[in-house]
Amino acid sequence: MAIIITDECINCGACEPECPNTAIYEGADDWRYKDGTSLDGSVVLPNGKAVDADEAQEPISDEIYYIVPDKCTECKGFHEEPQCAAVCPVDCCVPDDNNVESEAVLLGKQAFMHPED
Ligand code: SF4
Ligand code: SF4
Repeated sequence: MAIIITDECINCGACEPECPNTAIYEGADDWRYKDGTSLDGSVVLPNGKAVDADEAQEPISDEIYYIVPDKCTECKGFHEEPQCAAVCPVDCCVPDDNNVESEAVLLGKQAFMHPED
């Protein structure tokens, strides 16, 4: 299950540097699959989606920090608990009911993005 940032976010920025997958971006910033991962060029994600890892993608939010669901592994493979939720001062990093994934799927995403680990 990916984590999502709710509109209670106060834009403090504490979560962004804590994400081991670089899945968190400031509102209005572009994002890329390659940021903070080993992905490069044309790749097919474990979910079957073909993407260009180098291509700048549209921000998911223009107002608040946001999490890219394809890059969030709920910190599986790195930490015992979601690091964004652990540091967020207003507890607005919560499980996303629209992106429910098994632990095996989350670990598969982590291994795909970080094969060297
Ligand atoms: S749960 Fe972990 S991987 Fe997902 S956005 Fe938060 S810090 Fe990043
Ligand atoms: S730590 Fe919480 S309040 Fe701060 S930017 Fe991240 S989601 Fe928003």
